[in-house]
Amino acid sequence: MRQILWFRRDLRVEDSAILSNAKDEVLPIFIFDRNILDKLPKDDKRVTFIYQNVLKLKENLQNLGLNLLVFYGEPKEIFIKLKKYGFDEILTSIDFDSFSKKRDDEISKIIPLKRYIDSFILTPSDILKVDKTPYKVFTAFYNSLEYIHNSTKIEEFKSNLKLKKVDFDYSFIPTLENLGFIKQKLPEFLNQSPDELIEKFSNKIQNYQENRDYFYLDAGSNLSVHLRFGLISPRSLFNKIKSLDASKKEIDFYIKELFWREFYNYILYHFPNSEFENLNGIKVNWNENEDDFIKWCNGNTGVPIVDAAMKNLNKTGLMHNRLRMVVSSYLTKNLLIDWRKGEKYFALKLLDYEASSNIGSWQWAASTGVDAVPYFRVFNPYLQSKKFDKEAIFIKSILKELENISPKVIYTENGVQEDIFLNYPRQMVGISYSRNRAILEFKKANNDRKNYK
Ligand SMILES: Cc1cc2nc3c(=O)[nH]c(=O)nc-3n(C[C@H](O)[C@H](O)[C@H](O)COP(=O)(O)OP(=O)(O)OC[C@H]3O[C@@H](n4cnc5c(N)ncnc54)[C@H](O)[C@@H]3O)c2cc1C
Repeated sequence: MRQILWFRRDLRVEDSAILSNAKDEVLPIFIFDRNILDKLPKDDKRVTFIYQNVLKLKENLQNLGLNLLVFYGEPKEIFIKLKKYGFDEILTSIDFDSFSKKRDDEISKIIPLKRYIDSFILTPSDILKVDKTPYKVFTAFYNSLEYIHNSTKIEEFKSNLKLKKVDFDYSFIPTLENLGFIKQKLPEFLNQSPDELIEKFSNKIQNYQENRDYFYLDAGSNLSVHLRFGLISPRSLFNKIKSLDASKKEIDFYIKELFWREFYNYILYHFPNSEFENLNGIKVNWNENEDDFIKWCNGNTGVPIVDAAMKNLNKTGLMHNRLRMVVSSYLTKNLLIDWRKGEKYFALKLLDYEASSNIGSWQWAASTGVDAVPYFRVFNPYLQSKKFDKEAIFIKSILKELENISPKVIYTENGVQEDIFLNYPRQMVGISYSRNRAILEFKKANNDRKNYK
């Protein structure tokens, strides 16, 4: 048996389904996929992160007596060439977004493809309600999985240590420049290993539930990027968090967050159209004004919390969860712009971009998804600033022009605009007016759907 082990987003050797299921002679490979890379800007930070971690994966595989063959090209062409070497099958991990499914369908016509759930804990097809339909409400989904999230340990995969590497020339390693990218400076935590981040988080978890919404604090685990690229598996993360010296209440709270990630993957599997359509079927009369969208993208909306969050995203690829909720609500409700535009923009910018979590969260914010925020609950961005960053510490750290402005002014609607020495953009829309407009529009869309049914 000769197998290709295609590493894609599971850049690790611990708890690896493919290294565990592999037999005999293997060719581990990683492809810098032109179909993905050609669409990205040259300063994409994720490519620097992936590049560094592909080199680490090569080293880790070498330590196991294997190696990693690195390619730069189109998967289809690469597998057509590899087929000539008589491989029986390809082992890899599975993703449920349309791009991944289409790519895998094509490849499986060249060499049989075996795919494993290796980036998530749950197998979505296994979890159904008594009536055999999928869950749509998180709490019911989560409660049905008590036997998993209440356990202290989930079984992990053990690598097959008897594998032999296929004799090949493994020496090709393109530089980032060969791939057409410029090396980017990454936030410091991305140079740390998952274990180092868990160690740091062990000092924060005791206050996680209380502090996680305060977006000027660093109260989260910062593990979403490592999870995204599989430097740690969600199973190992689950086990490591469960063994921390912290109260059950805090540990359970964190595990529940991890299961939101599972839930959105589950939803994308069962409702693949949610990538493109309002999952609840409503038709919203979206605002198509491109200038409005661009102002949101660039952080020029005139609302300091939204502007600071967007400017920081553009610069660093990072955004706190509470701020993601604020800017997505502002875009879809106050500006009444289609969530799909925001989703695509986040996909381009977020270091931790994960199709299922991003699509699910955007549909949640837009009140178009499953278990979404009710359409009449529109976040007031000024109250969010006041509640979760009372001293405007985060906002001032990004919007330097507001450094000497009182926090009270910053979280008062039109406050900064009244300061004649500041040249701050005018608000695009009044908060109360736009809130009422959104509620009316969503009410109409929901009624139309009911009448149509
Ligand atoms: C509009 C919007 C878009 C989002 N897009 C993404 C995305 O593309 N990729 C992504 O990983 N997360 C996304 N999230 C969820 C969340 O914001 C991030 O997972 C979190 O900010 C990552 O920081 P952390 O690792 O410190 O999280 P922690 O608070 O330490 O949480 C631990 C882990 O739980 C998971 N998690 C936490 N909250 C959520 C959530 N609401 N939904 C799904 N998983 C969650 C993440 O894997 C996270 O790493 C989005 C949220 C919103 C509102």
